[in-house]
Amino acid sequence: MSARLLDGVALARRLQQDLGPRVAAFTTRHGRPPGLGIVLVGDDPASQVYVRNKVRTGQEVGFRVDLERLPATATLDEVLAVVARLNASDAHDGILVQSPLPASMGHDAEQRVFDAITVQKDVDGFSPASVGLLSQNRAAIAAGTPSGVIELLLAEGIEMAGRHAVVVGRSDIVGKPMALLLLHRNATVTICHSRTRDLPAICRQADILVAAVGRPGLVTADWVKPGATVVDVGINRVTDPEVAAALFPEGHPRLAVFRDKGSVLVGDVHPNVADVAGALTPVPGGVGPLTIAMLMRNTLTAALVRAGEPVA
Ligand code: NDP
Repeated sequence: MSARLLDGVALARRLQQDLGPRVAAFTTRHGRPPGLGIVLVGDDPASQVYVRNKVRTGQEVGFRVDLERLPATATLDEVLAVVARLNASDAHDGILVQSPLPASMGHDAEQRVFDAITVQKDVDGFSPASVGLLSQNRAAIAAGTPSGVIELLLAEGIEMAGRHAVVVGRSDIVGKPMALLLLHRNATVTICHSRTRDLPAICRQADILVAAVGRPGLVTADWVKPGATVVDVGINRVTDPEVAAALFPEGHPRLAVFRDKGSVLVGDVHPNVADVAGALTPVPGGVGPLTIAMLMRNTLTAALVRAGEPVA
């Protein structure tokens, strides 16, 4: 069997195109575009790329996007002051603080910053109030990556109700909200993590298997029920030739990419899963592009909710 590939790039483009006219209509009605404030602290190269993409996509859909940059030496109080200003701003409907914050700010800095973002503007869905609303199935906004997975499953006509969904990973930003969103779609959900016993056997029970772990190629073909839908959230940069060789057979085009560039982006799902799964998200080009698209949708949703308008 060769799995059907679930195209996140095309869906992200469609979602973005759908937003354009709705954003323009909001701007006409309110005399201002929806506003997104993005806070970037320090010089982490990956964060700079993510933020650049978020700024560009936001501007493309017609938002006002303000990037607030702070040096790596900034204090937690300085970050909290920027968040407080954005919370109070009438021009900003959404606030996003790019993770990770510099380690020098302390281990609980990120949580304290997320705690400070007002729930109505929490377009990442990471604040405790947002998580509480999600848990009660009352959230207008949920974390972008798992929301993107749900959009993809819906767009591809993959039934969730009554199916067994196994989520590997229990982080606050992917695994847990993913499990809740699948539960709210009436899936029967199992959450696995690093202490789970006999992970392959549990994964083999899944009709829908979501891998959000951060280990290249962890999920192999023998973990997957034939015909299952496999969603690969992982994004891992492989630089070790042995790992690359274990993932891709000689002659595979991705191995050529690795040899050419010295690294290759892979998911948590081994490429041999494509022989067993019914449907599979590729990496790159699966879940990744949907995260930003959902962030944009969340920002419009936040603007509509703040304006007391229907979200649909
Ligand atoms: P975290 O490191 O926060 O969480 C990883 C989870 O995987 C933890 O719950 C951990 O368990 C579990 N885990 C680790 N090793 C194993 C193992 N051997 N067996 C079973 N479970 C294991 O990662 P994130 O949730 O933030 O991200 C996961 C992946 O998704 C990463 O590759 C990340 O880059 C990617 N990602 C992709 C996004 C996208 O846009 N597509 C967005 C966000 C993340 P425990 O809790 O017991 O430690």
